[in-house]
Amino acid sequence: MTRRAICFDLDGTLVDSLPDIIGSIAAAMVEHGLPDPGDAPVRALVGLPLQDMFTALAPEGDVAALAASYRRIYPARFTQRSTPFVDTVEVLEALRAKGYLLAVTTTKRSEMARDLVAALGLADHLDHVQGTDGFPAKPAPDVIERALAALDAEGTWMVDDTTHDVHAGAAAGLQTYAVCRPEATHDRAMLASAHPDRLEESLLPLLELV
Ligand SMILES: [Mg+2]
Repeated sequence: MTRRAICFDLDGTLVDSLPDIIGSIAAAMVEHGLPDPGDAPVRALVGLPLQDMFTALAPEGDVAALAASYRRIYPARFTQRSTPFVDTVEVLEALRAKGYLLAVTTTKRSEMARDLVAALGLADHLDHVQGTDGFPAKPAPDVIERALAALDAEGTWMVDDTTHDVHAGAAAGLQTYAVCRPEATHDRAMLASAHPDRLEESLLPLLELV
């Protein structure tokens, strides 16, 4: 019998990680003599591939060098302020109890994503952590399709916090559940423009849908 799986974006969905990401982006830019872009411009770009973020923030910059700096700086500080959201463990445990396989599907690279998941104590609550390792990033469906193939499972919901994720989930044929939290990357109106099947303020209502 095919098992059913639920896919989760990581940053801003399962873990409150934006301040460490924003701080690391700023540190990488300052290291290369560029101005600190401030929180808001970076926040709006979180969830995109690093190259796309730095291209937007520093069109004249050496994007590859900036990304290399970020990949060195971020793992050294990625749990300074990051924590799972208050509802994350409760929801993952409840979904597992219902028989679902649970995957992270993130634009981070797999190694970085697994390190963060482990550092924040979530590894035992997940069946697979799928990063984006050299194939098209969300909104392409590839990262979701790879996670489902690794689990040999049928996808049900994609749970996430940006329009890129919602489009990826829909392209992979999943129902889409967008979480709009305070200080999120995409606000409620932006998320609504992607037409998720559900738009909620926390993960908890997901438990009523499965
Ligand atoms: Mg996210």
